[in-house]
Amino acid sequence: MKFRSYLSYEEVEDWIENYINTHKEISHAEIIGHSDEGRAIRAIHVTARDLPLDEKEVALIIIGRHGDELGTRVIGPALLEWLSLKEAEETRNRQHVIVVPVANPDGCVREVFGLPAYRLSGLETRSLLPLGERYIPDVVMDVHSVGKEKRGLNWGGLEAVIIDQNAHAGEDQFILREMAREMLHAAATAGYPFLLHTTEHYRNLRKKAAAISECAFNNHVNGALYAMCHALDFGMEVNHFVLTPSDTAQSGLAVIRSMLERGNRTAPWEHYPGYPNRILSGDFLAWIGPRGRNASQRRTSRKEIWSKRAFFETPFTPYRAMLDDHHVRVTVRYSGDEEITSGITMSVRIRGRPRIKDITLNDEKADYYAKCDECSTYVFVDLETVAKDDVLELVARF
Ligand SMILES: [Zn+2]
Repeated sequence: MKFRSYLSYEEVEDWIENYINTHKEISHAEIIGHSDEGRAIRAIHVTARDLPLDEKEVALIIIGRHGDELGTRVIGPALLEWLSLKEAEETRNRQHVIVVPVANPDGCVREVFGLPAYRLSGLETRSLLPLGERYIPDVVMDVHSVGKEKRGLNWGGLEAVIIDQNAHAGEDQFILREMAREMLHAAATAGYPFLLHTTEHYRNLRKKAAAISECAFNNHVNGALYAMCHALDFGMEVNHFVLTPSDTAQSGLAVIRSMLERGNRTAPWEHYPGYPNRILSGDFLAWIGPRGRNASQRRTSRKEIWSKRAFFETPFTPYRAMLDDHHVRVTVRYSGDEEITSGITMSVRIRGRPRIKDITLNDEKADYYAKCDECSTYVFVDLETVAKDDVLELVARF
């Protein structure tokens, strides 16, 4: 898709209107709130509408929170256009992609940053967070763009993928970096040298150069969505100073496509396909995660467990002990007053592909399912509920 210039607010809106009218079989628009000046903020939902949403992953792409970041204005149309192509068919079949092309319309019209740098704005709180509550995204991409200068700092032609240093549960840092590595590789293959940044990087930069870099990347919406439902969060900076509008669109699209592609696959440690966001506590050797037969049930379970995660015994939940060469025990302790009604799944990883003799849960035989990667076997046990002061002891004999 070619762009001769960065679009104005009206041009983006007209483009989207036309898109929805010509792609009714895969898209619809939802008004998720209004700006202070009364402009509608729209989310565009793209998915194969003849396939059930319950089976699909949810990807949320937020664009244009900062109104002076011209590069963001071509990303929404470029992404929506790509999502309508034959090559995006698997993504449409497996995922419900939600695109907010202009998250801050007043800022876009006035061409100003337009949001507070150090906290969530009222605008974001009343539009983007309820959107997250309704759909419980599995993954979030927050799209930004740098120009010649941003608050006095010349960014040297930077384009970057940003991961959240505050994401600390389970294997989150490993998983975010692994996904970011794929995004950087995809961008490089398309001809765009992206860097990987963490918010920690900007924090240090701020410390060192507070005068010129007061409010570098801010991830308040990402942080809130991570806290709400353990969505995997990424940010991105494209660059509208060094790239043409078409190149800006292509560079951003390369990164987003890589992210979406991940949602069509199954991670080695996961039984179900989709984004690898289900290790809520523990590590690759033993972890707890959501339970559910379809993606929608697993999302509900994920959000519930995540909201009660403080009541699992720390720092080891679960605690994995090797009893001998042929026995491994995994212990989970839960102390929350409120039951976990949507259940949990316990997973334990065993080296090699041994024959499993039995799996017991608190000394009773338990149903389980398993999968293998190249060097190990993962055993999963679903628990319907978890109540206060439950101690769950899973023993695998092999
Ligand atoms: Zn920005």
